[in-house]
Amino acid sequence: MNINTAAKITKQLQAAGHCLVTDDEAADVIIFNTCCVRNTAEQKILSHIALAKQLKRRKPELLIAVIGCLSAKRKINGVDFQLGTENAMDIVEKLGVTLRLLPPTTTETAYIDITYGCENYCSYCIVPFVRGKLRIRPYAEISAEFDQVKDHAKHIYLLGQNVNAYPNFPQLLADLAGRDGDFTLHFLSSHPKDFNEATVKVIAAFPKIARDIHLPLQSGCDKILRLMNRKYTVAEYLEKIACLRRYLPDVHITTDIICGFPGETEKDFQTTMATVKQIKFDAAYIFPYSNRSGTVADKLAGQVPLHERKARATKLVEIMRKMS
Ligand code: SF4
Repeated sequence: MNINTAAKITKQLQAAGHCLVTDDEAADVIIFNTCCVRNTAEQKILSHIALAKQLKRRKPELLIAVIGCLSAKRKINGVDFQLGTENAMDIVEKLGVTLRLLPPTTTETAYIDITYGCENYCSYCIVPFVRGKLRIRPYAEISAEFDQVKDHAKHIYLLGQNVNAYPNFPQLLADLAGRDGDFTLHFLSSHPKDFNEATVKVIAAFPKIARDIHLPLQSGCDKILRLMNRKYTVAEYLEKIACLRRYLPDVHITTDIICGFPGETEKDFQTTMATVKQIKFDAAYIFPYSNRSGTVADKLAGQVPLHERKARATKLVEIMRKMS
């Protein structure tokens, strides 16, 4: 999603005659398009912003903008503009450029937002607090944007924190995948609680929909899934995997897993490892649990020491490496 926003802002500014520079010293404006879902990302952005502020002391005319979810989370002193994810595009007009309807760029990949925000409140996640409640993008806008890019882009991604929250997502998929054009349609991300057989049937019926499914498991242990407020069980998740493999024998399944979530004992972690081995994912993005203040998980008892979270993540990465 951030890549999509950054590309749109860049395009608007370039159309108005501005150019991208890779050297901060040469820049008139530095825009930080931020994500603070993980603590490490937040710390990294803050250190880059600090460097930009040092530069501004030597070059006061430099403008610094911070857009995206970090801006929704906290006030950042010493920058010129702060805009959250909902109004990130306003930075274009704040910089004196009028937003214009521009023709599509000929690129390999196009991204189309279909939902914004999320209200699932997984207990570890700050997205509902920084990106707001679920909003559904009007069908007419999605459809028009799709028609603009479908003859130019080879890969088109439908984006949302939980694309399955789009009302009748299978119908939307079928509608778009049925249009003319030499494209492959992808979607990101899915929530296992909402991912259903109707969606799988549509994928099977339309060769233009990618056989790559990202279905974040997060934990392979029911006790931890409950603490995470994920609203599905391991058994339910396994049924979705079986359904995918039944209809799509060539499916490529990837996932996300958090290691060392509060309350996760060694035995719980062993359960997750067994689930991962059983499912045989094609790839997994494995992270040690990251505390985010303001979330329920941050206050849960049984916080796992950081070195242990990292050790479990390393162990799981090794298992995935061996299996692949
Ligand atoms: S569904 Fe995704 S974005 Fe929404 S709260 Fe859960 S982890 Fe965060």
